[in-house]
Amino acid sequence: MWAAGRQIVLASGNAGKIREIQAILTDQVIVPQTAFNVVECEETGSTFIENAILKARNAAAQSALPAIADDSGIMVDALHGAPGVRSARYAGDQATDGDNVKKLLAALAGVPDGQRTARFVCVIALLQHADDPCPLIAQGVWEGRILHQPIGEGGFGYDPVFWVETHQCSSAQLPADLKNALSHRGQALRQLLALTR
Ligand code: IMP
Repeated sequence: MWAAGRQIVLASGNAGKIREIQAILTDQVIVPQTAFNVVECEETGSTFIENAILKARNAAAQSALPAIADDSGIMVDALHGAPGVRSARYAGDQATDGDNVKKLLAALAGVPDGQRTARFVCVIALLQHADDPCPLIAQGVWEGRILHQPIGEGGFGYDPVFWVETHQCSSAQLPADLKNALSHRGQALRQLLALTR
């Protein structure tokens, strides 16, 4: 049970993420880590959970407040789970979303539809303080399939090549509120809300 009105630092400066998390955790005040000049840490973990904890612990240590962090990415079965934790940097440290999508489509060239199964994963960690030995962990998974070419203008990252079977479109074609209702991040956020109540 988390006291209402408590400040929680978000280990991200991304305005979209702040809005999304604040909209779900309405009892708490979400403050971006940039407000505390938090220096970002390296994401050295080999799992989403490790990276989410690393980022939340770093933000908690530098702000002296509870902190929340999410780590997400896409896992493709035919690539043994890659890009995974390297999703943002799949085509290199300075890669754009377009570079990453291009590399993914090249890696899957010739792979038939039935073997293009994939999922978005999101893990959220919430630490009371930097030495919290028992972080709250929430996780969401969204199943889909990688298309042969990008479709749709919305979303970001791998959305244009992620086919959503239930809605017969790519996730870049979904309205934002519907994507939030279905997505790995939406699922993890709702789970986190249940854990904090
Ligand atoms: P991060 O968790 O913000 O580091 O995101 C990791 C990367 O995973 C992003 O840069 C995207 O490439 C990819 N990703 C995570 N969530 C989504 C999503 O909802 N749509 C498309 N790509 C995503």
